[in-house]
Amino acid sequence: MKVMKFGGTSVGKPERMHQVAELITADATPKIVVLSALSGTTNALVSISNALAQHDKATAKSQIETLEAHYHSFITSLLKTESARQAASAIIAEHFEFLHIILRISFSEALYKDILAQGELLSTKLFSVYLTEINIPHALLPALEFMSIDANEEPQLPLIQQRLAQQIAKHNGIQLFVTQGYICRNAKGEVDNLKRGGSDYTASLIAAAVKAEVCEIWTDIDGMHNNDPRIVDTTLPIEELSFDEAAELAYFGAKILHPTCIWPAQQENVPVKLLNTMQPEAKGTTITSTAMQEGIKAVAAKDGIIAIKVKSSRMLLAYGFLRKVFEVFEKYKTPIDMITTSEVAVSVTIDNETYVDDIVRELNPFGTVEVTTHQTIVSVVGNNIASTEYLLQKLFTAIQHIPVTMVSYGGSSHNVSLLVPNQYKEATLQALNTGLFGL
Ligand code: ADP
Ligand code: ASP
Ligand code: MG
Repeated sequence: MKVMKFGGTSVGKPERMHQVAELITADATPKIVVLSALSGTTNALVSISNALAQHDKATAKSQIETLEAHYHSFITSLLKTESARQAASAIIAEHFEFLHIILRISFSEALYKDILAQGELLSTKLFSVYLTEINIPHALLPALEFMSIDANEEPQLPLIQQRLAQQIAKHNGIQLFVTQGYICRNAKGEVDNLKRGGSDYTASLIAAAVKAEVCEIWTDIDGMHNNDPRIVDTTLPIEELSFDEAAELAYFGAKILHPTCIWPAQQENVPVKLLNTMQPEAKGTTITSTAMQEGIKAVAAKDGIIAIKVKSSRMLLAYGFLRKVFEVFEKYKTPIDMITTSEVAVSVTIDNETYVDDIVRELNPFGTVEVTTHQTIVSVVGNNIASTEYLLQKLFTAIQHIPVTMVSYGGSSHNVSLLVPNQYKEATLQALNTGLFGL
């Protein structure tokens, strides 16, 4: 079994969907195809929800109408036959009826999740109509029947595996399955999601659940590049990465992969390939348990970071101090990204601002607490970089003009992380591109 995931831009235009149909029928291997919402749809649904949350029904209504019109014109080019167009129109009508109904009911967190789920439900159902029109035997698997997260928002892999197998068993003789990325049910049984960009996570979870031979992530670029192509002019694709390297890059901001999507595939040792729908012949990136080349592979950046420093002379020669500090973050379910310590202070970074005030209040008795917002983590990732000759020298020479606020090195053999004020992000990425990759 092969898992093939297509992101928003890969299904965002009718001709792209036609191309996806070609790619998934290019060989006879049994497949589970995971689709995102059409590009722009999830953003539109977020914006509709925000308008509703602010009681601005007029804006929400006009955005719903614009989105609906977009879907009607989409199916006109996607489909040729009248019967297929009618089936697709009925699907659009069903989902937009729901969106029109929400204009009349009060907004809640649960409703918000229901609204966000419409994108993937629409894209998969419309794609299924197209496959039927061109006579490709397949079955739609409802993700809401098998994809689930627990009370800590962690996917429940054994349960997913069991329920997915039951869903597949319902379709004897079928070799091609299509399902929704991103959406799931939570511990309360409500519709929920795997966070923005979560279709990659769905694909990896499914690949682990069925022990797929490969998990292919098809997107709009030819693999993981050595630096952020949205910011730096010259970047190059990386042919091979290890799971650990890919996980670090995803976690530290390489948008091509959802931050936590690597672990399921890694757990079952399923290779992950990053491929370009617009350029299917390109090699892309292959992610496996072994990283072939040593040395630096890539740089990534993660914004919206908050640094918290606790200074206390009581830390001097004290044990148990760090535990007390970390317990505060644990209490507020706020993960820490970077940590540095000195004899009298500890600095950590977080990316979730929800409980900053509570955390600071509880840290205050331990010493002087300083909070710095608008920071960016820039991570340099590679294989055994800690022992790569002259690495640190090259790195710090490249960024000598940047006011670095924190450095984390030695935690793993494949990551050096720097904290810089957000306004220096572009300059840092560019300087590292020149200094480390000669680009
Ligand atoms: P999809 O809709 O297919 O999930 P995404 O927009 O989530 O696609 O991810 C692909 C985008 O990730 C690329 O278009 C690129 O701009 C961005 N990106 C950021 N960092 C990297 C990187 N290091 N390598 C490749 N792409 C990256
Ligand atoms: N549609 C969702 C998003 O835009 C999930 C995804 O595309 O991966 O975040
Ligand atoms: Mg994505």
